[in-house]
Amino acid sequence: MNGILSVILPAYNENVNIEKSYMTIAQILSASSIPHELVYVNDGSTDNTWNEICRMKKKETSISRITGICFSRNFGKEAAIMAGLTNASGDACVVMDCDLQHPPEKLPEMYYLWQQGFEVVEGVKRSRGNENGIYKAGAKLFYKFMSLAAKTDMSRASDFKLLDRKTVNSILSMPERSIFFRAAASWVGYKKTEIEFDVKEREYGESKWSKWSLVKYALRNIAAFSTFPLQLVTITGIATLLGAMILAFQTWIRYYSGTALEGFTTVILLLLMLNSVVMVSIGILGYYIAKIYEEVKGRPMYIISEFAKEK
Ligand code: UDP
Ligand code: MG
Repeated sequence: MNGILSVILPAYNENVNIEKSYMTIAQILSASSIPHELVYVNDGSTDNTWNEICRMKKKETSISRITGICFSRNFGKEAAIMAGLTNASGDACVVMDCDLQHPPEKLPEMYYLWQQGFEVVEGVKRSRGNENGIYKAGAKLFYKFMSLAAKTDMSRASDFKLLDRKTVNSILSMPERSIFFRAAASWVGYKKTEIEFDVKEREYGESKWSKWSLVKYALRNIAAFSTFPLQLVTITGIATLLGAMILAFQTWIRYYSGTALEGFTTVILLLLMLNSVVMVSIGILGYYIAKIYEEVKGRPMYIISEFAKEK
């Protein structure tokens, strides 16, 4: 079976990379006789990206098709990936960066793995390319947290993935708006395998992520995948309660041994008691808000991958 492969390429101010990515990817896939479609999503670029996509569209052939999507403004890479998946028509979809930092030479290998029956082929980073110290430490902390939240190791995860049609449909059926593609792709399950790749240097143009946008990205994705920060209040509440109990004990001892100031015992005890009650109450509210948040996201309780067939 030679299914069609859709390659989804989010593009934000990448005018220098459109033609190059099209030529490279189309050539590699054609050489391996893989019918394909390139889905370019122009994420509100302010340069010539959209014209370049339209120019490539005119060059398409029957084995290498192009779908071009243009956003009304910049909505971010996650939104671009979702738009690409929604509008891709292939039997399998690959998401990759159009600056060619995700090596297109790996595409045939991923495709063969898919033909062997794997429903998710994850590209994992062998090395993270050249990144400076602070960035590395921040990324490490973020991935540690995300791994706990998504319950799989995400430290080497990337957006470079091949997904079977079934997997794509499952991800698209998640009704939430604020979705983190990488974590969603592992949350839905299915038969998985990995291939390693080296992150290449960006040849043209520059990275679109400022320090601040990375912090926002991290916070947004933590909030999208975990209610742990809400539970922090409960943990603090319980810690305060324990501390209060110890202090209360000490205050009582001073009261009975007669070393306490007149009236001071009542004040301390009241303060401790009220504070812990308030903290724990906020924690309980946080717990219910977390539950509401999970319900509002409306994720399916389970995803069925297949039924046993007759014969
Ligand atoms: N990108 C996007 N919207 C944005 C920022 C980036 O679609 O708001 C695309 C960008 O065009 C590229 C990919 O996401 O194809 C990765 O971006 P970039 O290379 O800037 O990130 P880095 O490789 O430095 O992590
Ligand atoms: Mg890049």
